[in-house]
Amino acid sequence: MASTTSVASLQDAVLEAAAHLYVWALKDIPLDLRNALARAAQIETSKTGKRILDTILKNVEVADEVGNLVCQDTGIAVYACRVGEHFPLHPARIYAALRNGTERATLEHPLRSNTVHTITRENTGANVGYRVPIVHWEFIPDWDGLDVKCVPKGSGSENMSFLKMCVPADGVSGIKKFVLESIVGAGGKPCPPGIVGVGIGGSADYAMYLAKEAIARPVGTRNADPIVAQLEDELYGLLNETGIGPMGLGGDVTVLQCHIEHADTHMTLNPVAVNYQCWAARRASAHIGPDGTVDLDREF
Ligand code: SF4
Repeated sequence: MASTTSVASLQDAVLEAAAHLYVWALKDIPLDLRNALARAAQIETSKTGKRILDTILKNVEVADEVGNLVCQDTGIAVYACRVGEHFPLHPARIYAALRNGTERATLEHPLRSNTVHTITRENTGANVGYRVPIVHWEFIPDWDGLDVKCVPKGSGSENMSFLKMCVPADGVSGIKKFVLESIVGAGGKPCPPGIVGVGIGGSADYAMYLAKEAIARPVGTRNADPIVAQLEDELYGLLNETGIGPMGLGGDVTVLQCHIEHADTHMTLNPVAVNYQCWAARRASAHIGPDGTVDLDREF
């Protein structure tokens, strides 16, 4: 058990990391995403689509040059945490640190504060509120580290989230149909081309959680299960045949990738969730050791 002082300094290290990750994610999009956008601009044959992709690349370049955000929407603050069994800070304190880090980044940068009460629509503070930030937890046995990934999610793409409780008789073709219907229905609203995250299996809530996990993976990574990876490839091809194109104005590149996460499910369930991530697919990760050392380059 860590001493009171070391718990306080560890909590502070997590807070500092969260404050850094939130701003970093908003300003400096990952290399795999940059490469995917550059490739999209090369292969796009529609004149309008190519112009949009070139503008997106210019946008990223200008954000780098002037140290500004890649998009004005600072999103809703979402973190994914992998907590080692022996990491000497309780998740309740990790949550407090993530909340305070989000608040600090918002006030100090400053960033736009998006969070409101869901009924009154009154602003609840510096991108924090009741149950915000949103944190997903995974607990890792026989490990003493903490991984934190910040995935700020813009509303344009988050509004394009869909769930269907298919029945087992719908099979894989039902899953494909629903994903395609969702993305065709979304059109240009989620600022395409982005990453389509699909969650299949589990329960209704877990399928959506899995879809969110899927959009937070590095672009083009494949599910470890070859059957699921094959479905990722198939959907990626089908989605790019829709002709929706960059910003919904027509073209070859509607999505940069399709990622699927899955879970086993009940024999009479077949849940499918779709979560869209826009072209500004922001994410930033850090590893925090049990002594409070922070490694900002560790992706997970
Ligand atoms: S959906 Fe993404 S790119 Fe579009 S406005 Fe929102 S954060 Fe920006």
